[in-house]
Amino acid sequence: MTKINLDVVQASIRNIPDFPKPGIQFKDVTTAFKEPELFRFIVEETAAHYRNLGITRIVGVESRGFILGSALAYELDAGFVPVRKPGKLPAETYKQSYELEYGTDTLEMHTDALSPDDVVLIHDDLLATGGTVGATIDLVRKFGVKKIFVNFFVELDFLKGSEKIDKQVPVWSLIHF
Ligand code: AMP
Repeated sequence: MTKINLDVVQASIRNIPDFPKPGIQFKDVTTAFKEPELFRFIVEETAAHYRNLGITRIVGVESRGFILGSALAYELDAGFVPVRKPGKLPAETYKQSYELEYGTDTLEMHTDALSPDDVVLIHDDLLATGGTVGATIDLVRKFGVKKIFVNFFVELDFLKGSEKIDKQVPVWSLIHF
């Protein structure tokens, strides 16, 4: 059996050129997540980074952020809170819009999803330009939580998305391209 390490995980992420449109190199994480030993390694390595920080809630971003996000919540004895696209959450929501290359998009959270006592770990599968996580941080700040951390499975370093994230918010990613 191959020894699992970060290089093996990185090599397991499939690259799909020109998806969903020309010029985008889509990082398909499903090829990493489908392997039991890889999935366990990814969850355990990420959880190890965030142990003993008192994290009470994982905030996962629709939709690929739900996959590792819920496994991290389980590992860290935290709860799971979804950030969703417009019109999906059934109760009262906070809304936050953000700029896309063409136009804007909006994310929502239930207004009772977090409390000021929470220590929050925001998780998404991938950091590209940083627009999605910026809007998510703005949403989480509406609750006046104690502390916010941000985690990605994959970070595309060449897009410099992490430079756009508020320096008060610690960011850590398992895999870098
Ligand atoms: P951004 O807001 O530009 O940081 O984009 C992050 C969001 O878009 C994440 O939820 C990703 O799932 C998705 N995304 C953006 N670029 C890619 C890419 N090259 N491969 C896979 N997912 C991507």
